[in-house]
Amino acid sequence: MTKWVLFFGNANAEGSAEQKELLGGKGAGLAEMTNLGIPVPPGFTMTTEVCTYYYSNNKRYPDELKEQAEAAIARVQEIMGRTFGDADNPLLFSVRSGAKVSMPGMMDTVLNLGLNDRTVEGLAKMSGDPRFAWDSYRRFVAMYGDVVLDMKPGKKTDDDPFDSILEAVKRETGARYDTDLKTEDLRKLVSLFKAEIKRQKGVDFPEEPIEQLWGAIGAVFGSWMNDRAVAYRELYQIPGDWGTAVNVQTMVFGNLGDTSGTGVGFTRNPALGDNAMYGEFLMNAQGEDVVAGIRTPRPIGELKTSVPRAYDQLLEIRRKLEKHFRDMQDFEFTIENGKLWMLQTRTGKRHPFAAARMAVDMEAEGLISKKEAVMRPEADGIAAFLAPIFDSEAKARALREDRIIAKGLPAGPGGASGCVVFNAQDAEEWKKRGEKVLLVRKFTSPEDIRGMDAAQGILTAQGGMTSHAALVARQMGKVCIVGCGALNIDYAKAEMEVAGKLIREGDLLSIDGFSAEVILGKLETRPSEVLQVLRGELDPNNSKNWGQFIKLMSWADEFRRLEVWTNADTPGQAETAVKLGAQGIGLCRTEHMFFEGDRILHVRRMILSEDEAQRREALMKLFPMQKKDFMGIFKAMEGRPVTVRLLDPPLHEFLPSQEALKPEVFAQKVKDIAESFNITSEEVEERIEALHENNPMLGHRGCRLGISYPEIYEMQVRAIIEAACEVAKSGIPVNPEIMIPVVSAAMEMEIVGKQVRSIADAIISSSGIELKYLVGTMIELPRACIVADRIAREAEFFSFGTNDLTQTTCGISRDDVKSFLGTYIAKNIYSIDPFQRIDREGVGELMKMAVAKGRAEKPGLKIGICGEHGGEANSVEFCHSIGLNYVSCSPFRVPVARLAAAQAALKEVERRGG
Ligand code: ADP
Ligand code: MG
Ligand code: MG
Repeated sequence: MTKWVLFFGNANAEGSAEQKELLGGKGAGLAEMTNLGIPVPPGFTMTTEVCTYYYSNNKRYPDELKEQAEAAIARVQEIMGRTFGDADNPLLFSVRSGAKVSMPGMMDTVLNLGLNDRTVEGLAKMSGDPRFAWDSYRRFVAMYGDVVLDMKPGKKTDDDPFDSILEAVKRETGARYDTDLKTEDLRKLVSLFKAEIKRQKGVDFPEEPIEQLWGAIGAVFGSWMNDRAVAYRELYQIPGDWGTAVNVQTMVFGNLGDTSGTGVGFTRNPALGDNAMYGEFLMNAQGEDVVAGIRTPRPIGELKTSVPRAYDQLLEIRRKLEKHFRDMQDFEFTIENGKLWMLQTRTGKRHPFAAARMAVDMEAEGLISKKEAVMRPEADGIAAFLAPIFDSEAKARALREDRIIAKGLPAGPGGASGCVVFNAQDAEEWKKRGEKVLLVRKFTSPEDIRGMDAAQGILTAQGGMTSHAALVARQMGKVCIVGCGALNIDYAKAEMEVAGKLIREGDLLSIDGFSAEVILGKLETRPSEVLQVLRGELDPNNSKNWGQFIKLMSWADEFRRLEVWTNADTPGQAETAVKLGAQGIGLCRTEHMFFEGDRILHVRRMILSEDEAQRREALMKLFPMQKKDFMGIFKAMEGRPVTVRLLDPPLHEFLPSQEALKPEVFAQKVKDIAESFNITSEEVEERIEALHENNPMLGHRGCRLGISYPEIYEMQVRAIIEAACEVAKSGIPVNPEIMIPVVSAAMEMEIVGKQVRSIADAIISSSGIELKYLVGTMIELPRACIVADRIAREAEFFSFGTNDLTQTTCGISRDDVKSFLGTYIAKNIYSIDPFQRIDREGVGELMKMAVAKGRAEKPGLKIGICGEHGGEANSVEFCHSIGLNYVSCSPFRVPVARLAAAQAALKEVERRGG
């Protein structure tokens, strides 16, 4: 015989926590707590199988259900010494829904079920408090009408019929609060409520408790298929055949006076992770009063003075729950005349920062193993340790004052405030003057880099999570919001309109990179403790966060197989990355160095050159600067591999853009360039014109430039290798890897590879020292994946450039993806943003092919990834699974990648049953 009903009570439950599918989350938690000997009001759970039976049998219940329910009721009655429906000593129930996962749209809980004109007198006698009894009764009738008979208005703005009646009676009797109503007023309410039910529904309110019970049970099962629940399941892809369970549970009363109350809590602080009970409660209250916001609840610590015994008991239960579930719990409780009852427990949701901190604490407490501690937090959450933070008080005030004006995409976590400026140059100048600025742009481009660096935070109107702004922000560890469509920026007037508010240059603004909210005015921030320690501003012994961070990271390192490298262009970034655990540089973008100081002048000179001789002359000016940069980076990396990418972007990116600039600004820039090079403005414009490309991303860039103008790569290789030799001579080991971009044909690799090696070898042999270096390629075009075996003959390593590989594989420009990606994801054409997370079935398959072909030709070929995906947890897992050697990501993502790599390795072991 199928067991449709599972009993719980008196330290003995038929179900357990393992049976979430069958009992729903709530039922499973109640059963488990009961078995643990924790006081839980007795009751029973009708399983989710009843629900599925009901829907596959024309909304009929299984034959045995009634009998099993009656037997369970009898057991509860016996334990409680009360009888359901009894006039003298009535047992009351709550009826609570509960699917496997908690689901809005399901029926609300009905409390005080079993009251009628007879049992209410019994309750009055039992409690010695007729007012309480009638108050419970009128609540029940209204709740039954709203929830079971569906009289609650669909729209929040419409009046609840029972509330309207209540208000009318209060007016009539001159009562200000519900609590001012006398017993006879409450009596009157009950009969008015019943009349309203009759009027609206044409039925009598069911007096018979058993009828009430089956009515409520039917409403729970019915609610499984209501529109709201169905829509929610669709959104979160919850299968419709899971079904919901129904919990029928003895009522306990938190509204019996000054030694009664109700509350909710967490076994630890869910926002910060501290190992302290956290929650709130109300005395003399029932049900959802705590969360309803009618009365202001009190912090749970105060329970210690209100009902000390219950508080101690709660602490003990908290310990028991955590020990048993080995995780933070989120719980509900009620105190009836000083006696504590637990009504719910489940694993609590937490801030990613809290998740990581808790995991480390729980390991130390012996609650979980090191492996579990590494597996617990979402890898992305670890980034929170590095983010500057807004003061929580300040944020709450801003919300109250209605200063949160827009929302975008959270591209760089943390909080930042400053004066608004609308271009990069101003950002630099204002900063020099000692101002803190927020750089606000429609979008950013490479020439904004220094301004971005000068800004506290970056806010853009366009672009997604992999836009230039987002990428740079992560690399610099800047607070950043991108794609904030509500900004209407007018560069010419240096102002923007946002949600009807005008914001001018210099106005104070704040951005919260955790929630992606834009806030008017200034909010106080602080740098994270971990960064303070890294910068030597805080004693590590005085920072709990630091200790936790370092511990978690070192555990992750024990388990991971993937190495974690970083994308860094300056010695400073390299140093930070090493401190955060980077084992090498996977991408050093030489072109970023071209924007430093007055270098751009020489770069432009080189670009504007008419012949090779002129070009070489300009390159000679750049040479010492590049060499110095590389020396700095090699020193900072102390022998760790440093992968330098030879010049990649199309040349015109280094010239002023006619499209992006206002005509007069463009003309001025052209004039400046012409003057400094002693040529005419026309010549400059002609050259800019000549360099113009219709589709520069697929144009004259990468190794194509290196092949057209070999002297450019020649200069760069000389700078790299000479720098390496000099640093090596000074006794610091060096490990340069030279990377050739945008290769699509084996011949390209062959031509450029030969050139690089002949230059490098000549320098090394004349320097008289031994220096090992590698020459490899980026794999960032589909064709390169397809001919990877042939490319591997010439390449000593591969590095996937998944940003370009994604653009070219999908045929989607990442700068334009935003206009349709939303629709695509909604229609499930793409399930994810392929620029954020590796598109496994497309791009990923090409990567697999390249790995297989590359290693077939050259077993043991070193392969990594240097696209931004290298710092995204899911993509890191994929890189692990296809056997890459390393992932490389922005310095501030290094900890995320370390944790993600460890989790990938542990999951693999688990899958293999190890
Ligand atoms: P939700 O899923 O919305 O949290 P619950 O079923 O947990 O709904 O019920 C909401 C609240 O009703 C609980 O937090 C508790 O305060 C109250 N409640 C539920 N069952 C009982 C009961 N048997 N005795 C007293 N209060 C109860
Ligand atoms: Mg609720
Ligand atoms: Mg609840």
